[in-house]
Amino acid sequence: MYDVVVVGAGPAGTTAAKHIAEKGLDTLIIEKSKLPREKPCAGLVSQHALDNLDFKIPEYLIKRRCYGTRVIYKNHVLESKLAVPIGIQVSRSEFDYYLAQQATKSGAKIIQNTPVKSVHTKNDHVAIYTKDELFNSRIVIGADGVNSVCAKKASSDSKPRKNAFSLVSNLPAPIEHINNKYIDITEVDFGRAKNGYFWVFPKDNYLSVGMGIFGNPSEFEPLTSYYDYIKDQSFEYAKPHGHSIPIGGYKRNIQSNRILLVGDAAGFVDAFLGEGIPYAIMSGKIAANIVINAFEDNDFSNSKLSSYSIECEKVFGDNLKYSLIFSRLFYRFPGIFAKMLTNREEMLYNALLVVKGESSYKRFLRWLIPRFPYYTALLLKKSLI
Ligand SMILES: Cc1cc2nc3c(=O)[nH]c(=O)nc-3n(C[C@H](O)[C@H](O)[C@H](O)COP(=O)(O)OP(=O)(O)OC[C@H]3O[C@@H](n4cnc5c(N)ncnc54)[C@H](O)[C@@H]3O)c2cc1C
Repeated sequence: MYDVVVVGAGPAGTTAAKHIAEKGLDTLIIEKSKLPREKPCAGLVSQHALDNLDFKIPEYLIKRRCYGTRVIYKNHVLESKLAVPIGIQVSRSEFDYYLAQQATKSGAKIIQNTPVKSVHTKNDHVAIYTKDELFNSRIVIGADGVNSVCAKKASSDSKPRKNAFSLVSNLPAPIEHINNKYIDITEVDFGRAKNGYFWVFPKDNYLSVGMGIFGNPSEFEPLTSYYDYIKDQSFEYAKPHGHSIPIGGYKRNIQSNRILLVGDAAGFVDAFLGEGIPYAIMSGKIAANIVINAFEDNDFSNSKLSSYSIECEKVFGDNLKYSLIFSRLFYRFPGIFAKMLTNREEMLYNALLVVKGESSYKRFLRWLIPRFPYYTALLLKKSLI
């Protein structure tokens, strides 16, 4: 019998496992893939995420530092940078593997290449079934991403989840081209995807090029739009991977008796940009503290574990809620909001502060709302709307 089984070795699971193993609890991570595993991702780890890690990311993992962004909406283009990085560009397989190594260094064990098929809560433990084996654990942390098996158990009475849809591929590009066009920024284009955006995030010798759709993808042809986009940018052709991203900000059940959900499994992703790594790390840490406390009190009941939901709500619930409000406004009226973002440098600058973690969506909206009539009037005056 393990003390804790963590299902999934993404940033949420390995963060939780590291903190729990450090306290001497017998901790096992069960991971579906062989590590290091591929993860479809744009690969921007924001300063907000880095600030929540209790170790430094070594230089060899940092492909580039990112200081800002170039935002495009149709023929409107605006670039803004901070004096300090808003984050780092990484390969997710390398970054996640490094986090997994920190967990094993702290004493967690990992079993790889082993998908968990189902979890069943018993009186005094949880039974975790893989194809060939049964593992028993006092408590389970479900860190198995957007299609979480654990969430089926822990939040079975929740409403159906809302997911965004993404297409992404890594496209090789000459370093001179990357340095000329994207040296220390990302590029985001809100004008070519209905209810979403295209991104170009530069690495050392390749570009992550993707599209995130936060509304209904059947309303337009995502794959055709993707191929049109890479053709227009003269990027090399590559088949993209499709992937779901949970849309955060909704109320969900994220724990039940002996089970806690973290990261994407809990739906903790920014609803406007699809950024999830900071919330994966934060929820992993919060879950670890709650689990350690449950062992101290020998109480693994839903009511004991409910402090997990309360703590997540306290630490980042507002940010996800306001990201959803902003996302709904922005993608409902892109002709107004995206034109503002590409015409008002102070608005873009304030948005960068949110990504960096220095500001929040709530603060950003509080800043924007009083200025909204004036900015709209300016757009009207210039006949832009
Ligand atoms: C295309 C795309 C681009 C993105 N870009 C960014 C970005 O630039 N910055 C950012 O902050 N966020 C980004 N995100 C969101 C981010 O990737 C996630 O929010 C983050 O990975 C969540 O971490 P996690 O540990 O909860 O889940 P994951 O990283 O998804 O890890 C889950 C782990 O569980 C394993 N697993 C799944 N099922 C099972 C099972 N049944 N049994 C055992 N193991 C299992 C998986 O193999 C995986 O290793 C992006 C997402 C997508 C799809």
